[in-house]
Amino acid sequence: MTAEAIAQSLQARRTGPGRWMARCPAHHDRTPSLSITDRNGTVLVHCFAGCRQAEVIEALRARGLWPERKAEWLPREQYREERKRRDSYREAERWKEALLLALEHARRDAWHEFLECEAASEKEERAEALTRLFELAREHRRIRNLNGTELVMAHAKALQSDAKGVAELLNYAADDDRNAREITAAIVAMLAMAQQAEMARRAS
Ligand SMILES: [Zn+2]
Repeated sequence: MTAEAIAQSLQARRTGPGRWMARCPAHHDRTPSLSITDRNGTVLVHCFAGCRQAEVIEALRARGLWPERKAEWLPREQYREERKRRDSYREAERWKEALLLALEHARRDAWHEFLECEAASEKEERAEALTRLFELAREHRRIRNLNGTELVMAHAKALQSDAKGVAELLNYAADDDRNAREITAAIVAMLAMAQQAEMARRAS
């Protein structure tokens, strides 16, 4: 994989000959902080937000943008370690995706509840629904921002405290993937509508 191909896949911005800036795949990156450089055919990556290079490379690998390590050529013990490390990283990534989906669903429910309370002028319930919406958004942000090492640790902790819950969550996400996408789109549309209504209310 050339630097240019990696840059293209990450929709990077070219900043000079053989240089790009992309949104770092190892953390939730709003502004591009990953530099990608082609130095005589060798790809160099560096995250200015502070991800370790191994984390960046692992995240690229998870997206098929970095060659797999030739683990088969390692001594047996190291090979096992390497496989274990790689598997636990992937498992943690899947868990994160599932968790984010579940949080999206919960946010949708809280949003419906909020709208219903608003329509029925139930002030107290409306305030509760709003608090819940904020809490869910905060949790969503926290999970989304976990980087490689933190993510693997959080996943291990969740497995330890509730292995069954983690398995259920993964099943649920696998079943519900398309559904969840539609729901997320619906939430975005609803929020835009609410925003428009609010602007119209202020203008009048
Ligand atoms: Zn980063």
